[in-house]
Amino acid sequence: MDPQDPRPTLSRSLGLAPELSPQPGSKRVFLRTFGCQMNDYDSGKLRALLAKDGYATTDEMGEADLIIVNTCSVREKPEQKLHSFLGEAFAVKRRRGGRATVAVAGCVAQQEGEKLLARYRELDLVFGPDAVPGIVAMVEASKRAPVVDTQFLEASDYVFADELDPTAKERVSAFVTIQKGCDNKCTFCIVPMTRGPELSRPSGDILTEVRALAAGSVREITLIGQNVNSYGLKVDGEKTFAELLYAVAAVPGVERIRYTTSHPRDMGDDVVQAYRDLPQLTSHLHLPVQSGSDRVLRRMKRFYTRDRYRELVHALREARPDLALSTDVIVGFPGETDEDFEETLSLLDELRFHTSFSFKYSPRPNTSALKLLEREEAVPEEVAQARLLRFQERQRIISLEENQRMEGQVYPLLVEGPSRHDEGVLCGRTSTFKMVNFPGDLSLVGQTVPVRVTRAFTNSLRGEPV
Ligand code: SF4
Repeated sequence: MDPQDPRPTLSRSLGLAPELSPQPGSKRVFLRTFGCQMNDYDSGKLRALLAKDGYATTDEMGEADLIIVNTCSVREKPEQKLHSFLGEAFAVKRRRGGRATVAVAGCVAQQEGEKLLARYRELDLVFGPDAVPGIVAMVEASKRAPVVDTQFLEASDYVFADELDPTAKERVSAFVTIQKGCDNKCTFCIVPMTRGPELSRPSGDILTEVRALAAGSVREITLIGQNVNSYGLKVDGEKTFAELLYAVAAVPGVERIRYTTSHPRDMGDDVVQAYRDLPQLTSHLHLPVQSGSDRVLRRMKRFYTRDRYRELVHALREARPDLALSTDVIVGFPGETDEDFEETLSLLDELRFHTSFSFKYSPRPNTSALKLLEREEAVPEEVAQARLLRFQERQRIISLEENQRMEGQVYPLLVEGPSRHDEGVLCGRTSTFKMVNFPGDLSLVGQTVPVRVTRAFTNSLRGEPV
C-alpha cells in the first residue's frame, strides 16, 4: 500500500461482523465478471452470499450500493479492462456522494493486492479467490477502512461456499466447482500464483449441490476446476474424478455432464472408459494442447509429448466416435521456431479440433517462462502475430468444414433459451457443444428436442425442429 495513503487497512483476521441488518432487497450489488468459468462460479457464490445479507442484484451500476469487478490476469487485456471499469465505478461513487463500495476481486486482486489500493485511492476492498466466503464481513469492514484480503488459506481452513447462486437454479445449465487452485507449474501460467495450491472439494458437498440444481430447472452440469483429472487424488478415501463422473451421472434429473479443464497428462483410462459407459457425459471435450512441438511442450513443463496427446485423443475417439475436441494453443512461446510452429499446425490438421482458443504468448509476472525471455528468446511480435493469424485461419476453415458435415442431420438439442438477437428463435446445444439457432416456442426451454441442421457457419448452426 502507498505509505502516503492515510487510510488504515483492516485484514481478514478481524472476524468483523456486519453492523447493519438491512431489509431484504434494500441494498443492491452490481457485479461484473471477467475471465474463466472459475470466476463465473465465484461470482455466483458472491451473489448467493450477498443475497443472504439482503443484497439484490442490479444491472445498473449507477444504482448499486456495492460494485464488484471479478478480474482475470491470465492475459493482459482483462487487466486493462479493469482500469476502464474502475474509472466508471468511481464516477458512480462520486455521483452518489461516496455512498457506494467499490471492490476488486479475482486473480488481479490476488496478484496486485495492496498495490491496487495505492493506485486507486477510491477503492474500498481488494480480495482474492480464497476470501470469497467472507464477502459480507469484508464489505462492512471496508466502510470503516479499506480492506485487502489476499491470503491463501491452509487446506484445513479453506471452505468451499455451499450457497447456491440464486440465478443458477433457474437456468438449464450450471457450473459446479470440484476443486480450487493448481499444483502444476506450467511455465507460462499465473494461475498457481493467483489461485493457490490444489484442493479438492468433498464429493459429498459436490453431489449435494448437483442434486439441488437438478431438483430445479438445471439439466446440464459442468464440473469445473483448474485440473479436474487430478481431483481427489491427494485426499485419502476421496473419489477419483472418474468415480465422481459416475456419481453425478446417477443423480436424477442430470441429463448432461461436461467438465473443464483437463490436463492431458492426468487423464486416465478410467475417464476414457466413462465415455463408453455414461450417456450423460457429453461428446465434447476441451483438452488444452498448448503446442504441437515436443520441444516447446518441454519448455512449457506440460509433461506430455505430442505422441502421448495423439494417443489419448485416439483412445477417446475410439470410446466415443463423435467426440468433438476443443483446445488451447499458445503461439510465439519464447524460443518457438518456425519448425515448432509448423508442428502445431500439423497437429491441428491431423486431429481437426472443432474449435480452439489461440493466443500469442503473454509474459505474466512471477512465471518461470520469464527466464526464457531474459535469455532473449522472445519471438518478435510481428512473427508471433503472423503465426497466430495463420493458425486461426486454418482453424476457421476446419471449424466450418466440421460444422458443414452436420448439415441435413438431426441432433437432440438441449434448449437453453431465446436467441439474444432474433425474436421467436431459440438456442440449443448439441452434445458436441455446438450452438444451434432454430425457430421455436419458449415452452421448449429446458427440454431436449430433435432439430435438423439446415445451415452451418463457423461458430454456430441454424436448424429447424423435426
Ligand atoms: S495445469 Fe498448467 S495451465 Fe492449467 S492452471 Fe495449472 S499451471 Fe496453469
